[in-house]
Amino acid sequence: MAYTAWAEELKQHFDETVSWRRYLHEHPEPSFEEKETAHYILEKLTSFGIEDIQTDIGNGYGLVAKITGAHPGPTIALRADFDALRIHEEAAVSFKSKNDGFMHACGHDGHTASLLSVAKVIVKHKDELHGNVVLIHQNAEEVLPGGAKSMVEAGVLEDVDYVFGIHLDSLQEVGKVFYNYSFGSANSDMFKLTIQGKGGHGAAPHDTHDALTIGTQIVTSLQQVVSRITDPVKPAVLTIAGFEAGGEAYNIIADTATIKGSVRTMQHDVQDLIEQKLHSVSTHIAEAFEATLDLNYDRGYPSIQNDPVEVEKLKQRFTQTFGEDQVEEIGGSMGGEDFAYFLKEKPGAFFRVGAKVPEDDAPYPHHHPKFKIHEDSLLRSGEVFLSIIEEYLG
Ligand code: MN
Repeated sequence: MAYTAWAEELKQHFDETVSWRRYLHEHPEPSFEEKETAHYILEKLTSFGIEDIQTDIGNGYGLVAKITGAHPGPTIALRADFDALRIHEEAAVSFKSKNDGFMHACGHDGHTASLLSVAKVIVKHKDELHGNVVLIHQNAEEVLPGGAKSMVEAGVLEDVDYVFGIHLDSLQEVGKVFYNYSFGSANSDMFKLTIQGKGGHGAAPHDTHDALTIGTQIVTSLQQVVSRITDPVKPAVLTIAGFEAGGEAYNIIADTATIKGSVRTMQHDVQDLIEQKLHSVSTHIAEAFEATLDLNYDRGYPSIQNDPVEVEKLKQRFTQTFGEDQVEEIGGSMGGEDFAYFLKEKPGAFFRVGAKVPEDDAPYPHHHPKFKIHEDSLLRSGEVFLSIIEEYLG
């Protein structure tokens, strides 16, 4: 079986893969500013002997490399994102971020290194491939509008039949592969409500329309949208993340208030319903107390919808290759992930690979300043990509 030989080579390159990951970890760049990161990836891909590489695709520094197989067959795309976060690293690692204020706190350094390790192996075996591999190194996953949508619009999936991606997971057992038949992530929207009341003297409330009190009623009432209005078997989150009203003074009634938050859903009807209720509940409360209300609702990344047929096929492949205890079904997350745009275009799936540091009783979640991954997860991620290649092009 070709996979066995490929995986053996992947293992031989593992130290190198780790060194790439650590270099990227030391040099994080935030979304839309990953110039050096993209350059590093380009250098590596070129050094492997890959010739068909396109750079600066879409709205940033995205790269696409194509490995053409010797035999005809389908084309599969494998994606890794490469942006870091605006977080000051506090993790106790020897390869700590050297770009102060930025950190690879979501594992995208690991995604990138493992896809590079796959590229290095597979380019040497293109004679064995019945079909082609497209490597998508995507910029800016963390910040709206993200890089994925623009890369799709630039045509990176035009000749692609299937698309796959992985995400490391610091809270799950290292090396385990997690699959999900349908919803992998949520529709991730954000909103801002601006209440315009009428400010005035704290001793004369009857002459004012207190934006702060109106705002607190809106915050309280919005808690009922998910608990009383949406269907309980359809997941939804409405989080108020910020409230601003009033100032330093003890005796001034607030003129305006702003409330911001996020909405996470899986089904479109729930998404529409929440947006509509957010508007009607807030407007009616504001109107009742003679304030005006402005709602700014921004639809963000859509939800990941895996293709159940491909998931089933690969679940069986992974089980065969890694063992039954290494492959597990997992519920969708209410997080956002712009890989969804690739899956809107072509069938495929998004998997998670456990990356928990075993001695860690309380591992840190993604986006935490002390976030850490176990680097064995890079090898497993590479093996996942290789077994996908063998399944479709072997
Ligand atoms: Mn991520």
